[in-house]
Amino acid sequence: MSDKDYLAWPFFEPRHAALEQALDAWVAQHIAHGHAQDVDAACRQLVRQLGEGGWLRHAIGGTAYGGAGDSIDTRAICLIRETLARHNGLADFAFAMQGLGSGAISLFGSDDNRAAYLPRVARGEAIAAFALSEPQAGSDVAAMQCAAVRDGDDYVLNGEKTWISNGGIADFYVVFARTGEQPGARGISAFIVDADAPGLVITERIQVIAPHPLARLQFTDCRVPAGKRLGEAGQGFKVAMATLDVFRTSVAAAALGFARRALEEAMQRATQRQMFGQVLADFQLTQARLADMATGIDTSALLTYRAAWQRDQGRKVTKEAAMAKLHATETAQQVIDAALQMFGGLGVVSGQVVETLYREIRALRIYEGATEVQQLIIARELLKET
Ligand SMILES: Cc1cc2nc3c(=O)[nH]c(=O)nc-3n(C[C@H](O)[C@H](O)[C@H](O)COP(=O)(O)OP(=O)(O)OC[C@H]3O[C@@H](n4cnc5c(N)ncnc54)[C@H](O)[C@@H]3O)c2cc1C
Repeated sequence: MSDKDYLAWPFFEPRHAALEQALDAWVAQHIAHGHAQDVDAACRQLVRQLGEGGWLRHAIGGTAYGGAGDSIDTRAICLIRETLARHNGLADFAFAMQGLGSGAISLFGSDDNRAAYLPRVARGEAIAAFALSEPQAGSDVAAMQCAAVRDGDDYVLNGEKTWISNGGIADFYVVFARTGEQPGARGISAFIVDADAPGLVITERIQVIAPHPLARLQFTDCRVPAGKRLGEAGQGFKVAMATLDVFRTSVAAAALGFARRALEEAMQRATQRQMFGQVLADFQLTQARLADMATGIDTSALLTYRAAWQRDQGRKVTKEAAMAKLHATETAQQVIDAALQMFGGLGVVSGQVVETLYREIRALRIYEGATEVQQLIIARELLKET
């Protein structure tokens, strides 16, 4: 039995297995594991490479705009993220952000906006970002304060966004701002803001444990043409949630990729490390741990591809995506920790694969809805069903 047997699961079509195999071979040739010194330059290069390799065509929807299909194929996105994450966390990040940052344009953009942005995203010529979070509005999105006020043919944006991935290197941001049609989540709209728009300034670059471009943005009387609004006025929360319904499942897929790599590393180490006259894998304590790791990985994969498949069937996926994200990210953290433990002192040496995985996985349990938020979503959906 090969370790890719899951590609024969009924969630997939033959094209999915072909996609995974082609990408796996391409990444092994083009992209190495490890953290980069100059993260901005590395990220720009990865976006370009992924564009040239044709992989970013899967991050957008619409063949007319350079996409691989007429709509976003969630299973393809998940397989690509899983495969990239197994090899290199920044490559996964670069792919994911092209998708998350342009997802609202694929799903809700006018023809003009889709034609202006999506082909460049797919070719890796324009870097995308998704700007929802604020200092006082992370888990509680409805507490958003950044405001957009209509003024003739424009909206004028004032306020702050933080934790914005690709902040500082993006060519455009999909920004969510309060337009006030109704209170709370019903009074938010989404806009495309070009990085060079007057009034948009990067006020801080944030350093994190697994280096990625990340920034805080300030909008001061920043004018955005009304034609760059995505969806109806006041529908921004719906735009954000529909985008997250695709990409939340793909966070689970990335976690799965990190966990699979950790298990590969652990297996190699356990079968080679000599101690007490045998190898580490000969101990039943090690075997129990390996069994738990493998079982956790398979349950994560089942939940992830169930959610991806269900979305591709056009069905509601709020609960299933939350279950996948919750389970896969929490499990990956445990699997990576167990793998690192098997490496002993070597496990905490900078640059070791398990050490980079240990740093990569942590933020996935926080962004696109922390674990506790996913628990609340699952329970809310369950209670609705009764
Ligand atoms: C590396 C990274 C990249 C990011 N990229 C982006 C991006 O590109 N775009 C973007 O818009 N945002 C991005 N974010 C922001 C991310 O989505 C927020 O950090 C996340 O939503 C949590 O918000 P917060 O940090 O304000 O934490 P808070 O909202 O203050 O939450 C803190 C903690 O409280 C707990 N919690 C939350 N709600 C509840 C509850 N109801 N009950 C009990 N406990 C709860 C959770 O454990 C949570 O981690 C990124 C964050 C990180 C770390």
